[in-house]
Amino acid sequence: MATHIRCGSLFTGKSTSAEKDQTIVVEDERVSFVGPTATAPRPAAADKVIDHGAAFVSPGLIDVHVHLSYGNAHNEEDIDLYAPVEFRAVRAMMGAQQVLAAGYTALADPAITGRVTIAVRDAINAGLYVGPRISCSGRQITPRQGLADYYPTWIGVPETSVGVLVRSVTEAIEEIRTEVKDGVDFIKIAADGVYINPQTGELGGCFSQGELDAIVGEAHRLGRKVISHARGKEATLQSARAGCDVIFHAFYIDDAAIDICLAKNIMLCPTFALMVNGYEFTQATDGNYRARDMMKRIVEEGVPNLLKAKQAGVKFLVGTDSGFAITPYGEWHARELEFYVKLMGFTPAEALQATTVNNATMLRDGADIGTIEVGRFADLLVVDKDPLADIRILQDKKNIVAIYKGGAAVKVPKHVFNPAKVSKFSYDMWRDMYTQERVKQVPTRSIAAE
Ligand SMILES: [Zn+2]
Repeated sequence: MATHIRCGSLFTGKSTSAEKDQTIVVEDERVSFVGPTATAPRPAAADKVIDHGAAFVSPGLIDVHVHLSYGNAHNEEDIDLYAPVEFRAVRAMMGAQQVLAAGYTALADPAITGRVTIAVRDAINAGLYVGPRISCSGRQITPRQGLADYYPTWIGVPETSVGVLVRSVTEAIEEIRTEVKDGVDFIKIAADGVYINPQTGELGGCFSQGELDAIVGEAHRLGRKVISHARGKEATLQSARAGCDVIFHAFYIDDAAIDICLAKNIMLCPTFALMVNGYEFTQATDGNYRARDMMKRIVEEGVPNLLKAKQAGVKFLVGTDSGFAITPYGEWHARELEFYVKLMGFTPAEALQATTVNNATMLRDGADIGTIEVGRFADLLVVDKDPLADIRILQDKKNIVAIYKGGAAVKVPKHVFNPAKVSKFSYDMWRDMYTQERVKQVPTRSIAAE
C-alpha cells in the first residue's frame, strides 16, 4: 500500500524555489515518486490519499546542536552533577519528542553525558517510542584548561560530566575507541581553552596542533566525523588545520582558517540562538545577567567574520544549543533560521536548505534524509503558511499541519511537566551576600513583628 501526499506548494530542498500542486508517493517509508500531481501515478484502491490543500511542504527540519542530556539546564553543575544519568535518559526521551513536535524530524547531539543519547536513539530506532532520527557524539573530549574542564583541579572532570578529560594523546585515542565501541555517530572535541592568551589577549586553543591532528586522524580512521567546539580564532584555525568536519561557533574565524575550510570542505555552525536568546531574554534575577553584554559582543564581532566565510563559499549548518534553560527543547529551533536571514543574509530558501540539505550531511543516516527525492525517507513538515515569504512562521507550532517521519504522520503527546522537577537539582540558597551594609539596602522582615 502506498500513501499519496498532495501538496499545494512543495520545497524539495533540491532548488531554492517551491513548486505548486505536487504529489509525493510513499512506499515502505521512502519516497517512490515526487512531481506534479497531474503526472503522478494514479492511486490504487488500497492506497491512502492525503490532500494537504494549499499547505507548504518541506523536508523535515534538522537541528544539529541539541543536547538531549542537559535537561534544560540552569547551569553547568545542573548538566553534570545532580540528576543520575538514568533519569537524564528518561528526561532526554521527552526532550527529543518536543524537538520532533516542533517540526524537527532529525537532530544531532554533540556532547552527551553517560550514554544517554545513544540509549534514546536506539530506543526510538527500535520502535519503543516516537521520536526524531538522532545522531550523537559521546562526551566531548577536553584537555586541561579545555572548555569542559571548568571545575577546579581538586574536583576534576566528573564521570557524569558532559566532558571527558584526556591528559595525553594516548588517552584521547583510548576515549575515541571506547566511544566508537559504544556506538557514537561522530566525535566531539572541545578545541577552545578557558584562558586568554597573554600574547594576543584572545581566547586560546587548548590542544597543541599535533595533538589535534592525531585525535582527528584517529576518529577519521574509525570512520567518524569530528565536530570541534571553537569560538576563538586560534582554536578555529587549529580545528581547520586538523581537518575537523564541522566547526561550531567559529565567531573569530580568520582568512587563513576560511581558506582551509574551503580547501577541505569544512562546514561552520555558529549557533546564534544561545547567544541572542541569552542577551535578549536573560533577566536581572538570572546569574548570567552579567554575561549578557559579552554574548551580544560575540555576536556583533562574529557576524562580519562569518559573513566573510559565507561570501567565500564556506557551507553552513544550523544548530541552536538547545537543552539549556535559555533554549528549552522544542521552543527556539526555528529561531536560528530567522538569524540566518537577518544577520547572515541568507534568503529564507537558503536558510531552509541549510537546515535540511546541509544539516543532513552531518548525520549518520544523512544520505537518506534532508531532501524530498525518490529513495529517501519521507520525512516531511507541512505548514499552512509560506516560510519562503516569512521564515519566522516556522517558530509558531500553531502553523504546523502535519509532521511525517518515514511517510507516517507523527503525533507527539503534549507533555505538561513541572520544570522544577526535571532540572535544577542544585542547592539554590542565597544569591546575595547579607553583610550588615547590604541588609541596610534591602527590604527585610521582622519575626518579632509577625
Ligand atoms: Zn553545545
